[in-house]
Amino acid sequence: MSTKIYMDNAATTAVRDEVLEAVLPYFKEYYGNASSVYGIAKESKKALEKAREQVAAGIHANPAEIYFTAGGSESDNMALRGVAEAMKNKGNHIITTKIEHHAILHTCEYLEKQGFSVTYLDVDEYGKISLEDLKAAICPETILISVMFANNEIGTIEPIKEIGALAKEKGIYFHTDAVQAVGHVPIDVEEMHIDLLSMSGHKLGAPKGIGAIYIRKGVKVKPLIFGGAQEKKMRAGTENIPGIVGLGKAVELAVAEMEETTARLEKLRDKLIQGVLEKIPYSRLNGHPKDRLPGNCNISFEYIEGESMLLLLDALGIAASSGSACTSGSLDPSHVLLAIGLPHEKAHGSLRLTLDRNNTEEEVDFVLEKLPFIVQRLRDMSPLYEEIAKTAKQ
Ligand SMILES: *Cc1c(COP(=O)(O)O)cnc(C)c1O
Repeated sequence: MSTKIYMDNAATTAVRDEVLEAVLPYFKEYYGNASSVYGIAKESKKALEKAREQVAAGIHANPAEIYFTAGGSESDNMALRGVAEAMKNKGNHIITTKIEHHAILHTCEYLEKQGFSVTYLDVDEYGKISLEDLKAAICPETILISVMFANNEIGTIEPIKEIGALAKEKGIYFHTDAVQAVGHVPIDVEEMHIDLLSMSGHKLGAPKGIGAIYIRKGVKVKPLIFGGAQEKKMRAGTENIPGIVGLGKAVELAVAEMEETTARLEKLRDKLIQGVLEKIPYSRLNGHPKDRLPGNCNISFEYIEGESMLLLLDALGIAASSGSACTSGSLDPSHVLLAIGLPHEKAHGSLRLTLDRNNTEEEVDFVLEKLPFIVQRLRDMSPLYEEIAKTAKQ
């Protein structure tokens, strides 16, 4: 059965038609190396700088502060390892959260082995950090605060502007993993006092394997990759011009259409959330009810295995996720759901449906029609649920 309804846009998105069209000439027509001097190379160089402007404009940065990378994971690694390396003489303490993407968490674990000390902030039941906790964690050795803009599993948007203000006041660099946020929610690195920001193309309609990092002018970061002089020696390697063109185009489109897309997606999302909660007993919404990504729906069902739900949905042609794509395949429950206080069994029974501009109301209606039967079918096989159902009847 092939996928008819794709509701896993937090895992990756389809490349947009306009993006594909913009990218194609840079494979066959303008294939020159942007570092060379002849005609087609100049076209590559021009495209590179235009994309840099598009990306910068999307987050209110200066083009000179944008460096292209091979994706969100690389940008996250560069922010953490690059700042740690550059600032180790000032201090060895980093503050992050328990709900970050593994590109942040595993990099922090690596840095801990290198002698850095990392504070992992707790989050509340909605997935938000507390500014008081953050303030209390800051010490003279703190060199970096890294808090994600929006969570990839539960969609919660963090108080970025307040974190930025605090970091600025204390003179500490502030990095945000904005992979889920760029092109989805408004970002202004000036107003929000962000010093470093990670983004990735494939979460907003550009190809996979392209990303960027914003580094505020004057912020000290060591490069991860050495070689040629590309990206002002901050990221060696011949530029992925088609990918870069795609990222620039995708950011430009997403930001221009944001208001309209957000209004439409929030309506679909809320219909989906409310419909599921109304139709299915023993279900709860994960993540913040209001401060959440426009396309994110994450719901836990008691007495159910998330993985079996995914298989039954797949049989109907519906693509969804039970946490994050990176964690499925392992039996550990999601670290994000555990951090918001869900016990293991509830964390296991959770479903993430993430919408984007391609999803329709008919698709939402179809999911709302089918999901209650899937959940019921699985619960009917659960001895625990049988007990509950019996007690409820008495
Ligand atoms: C997808 C994702 C990443 C990793 O980005 P890649 O481009 O796939 O390496 C990092 N952080 C968050 C929050 C993500 O959702």
